[in-house]
Amino acid sequence: MTEVAGSAPLPIEQVDPDVAVEEFRSRWDRVAERIATVTDRRVGVVAVSKGHGARAVRIALAAGVTTLGESYAQELVAKRSELSGAADPLPATPSWHFVGRLQRNKVRTIADAVALWHSIDSERLAGEVARRAPGAAVLVQLDLAGLAGRGGVTLDAAPELVQHCRGLGLAVEGLMGVGPPGDPRTARPAFTSLSLLADRLDLEQRCMGMSGDLEAAVSEGSTMVRVGTDLFGRRPEREGAA
Ligand SMILES: *Cc1c(COP(=O)(O)O)cnc(C)c1O
Repeated sequence: MTEVAGSAPLPIEQVDPDVAVEEFRSRWDRVAERIATVTDRRVGVVAVSKGHGARAVRIALAAGVTTLGESYAQELVAKRSELSGAADPLPATPSWHFVGRLQRNKVRTIADAVALWHSIDSERLAGEVARRAPGAAVLVQLDLAGLAGRGGVTLDAAPELVQHCRGLGLAVEGLMGVGPPGDPRTARPAFTSLSLLADRLDLEQRCMGMSGDLEAAVSEGSTMVRVGTDLFGRRPEREGAA
């Protein structure tokens, strides 16, 4: 590992090209080990490439990691066009998950690219996704942190939104949530409540857990974690939203 204790790893695109793929694999293995310390269940990992360029995506693909997460529509559009326009063929075909807050007017621009929409949190957004990507696979996002502007519906409102999505012909695969910031131990009750609601609604996917809190999320039942920093390294601060 090129990691310095206590800080995020080096951006993968800054690692020596001769060893970058190997380094990505070893970061991946570490994430897998962390998951294995808390469960025997199979847990999916979405490699969140937001903030990193096309080169970082190529490294992940070359390492055999194809489920990639993006948070900003414009960035996904730009990255895809850069990747598809390159002379070098891609080592593998990415499967894009959209994990960030999504504005309705951006849905159209990424509708053909997204394999799983993680952040459905309103009827209007669901309606637009159903219109632009009929039958798409979605997660309904819960507001676990209670932070304004971070997205997600309340636990109380979620069952109705799940029903609404189904009525639109969307395939609701589960629930998603971003844990409250701070000590991951304090996030546990929020993760538990997401799992309990998924049980109640008979939904398979419970997508929760990121670099900093994945053990807590997995031990509370996460079936899919979203890991950016611990795979791709630190990302440049970004202004504005997509
Ligand atoms: C950026 C992001 C992640 C990845 O976070 P890290 O802490 O870098 O692992 C996960 N989920 C969502 C919704 C994100 O926006």
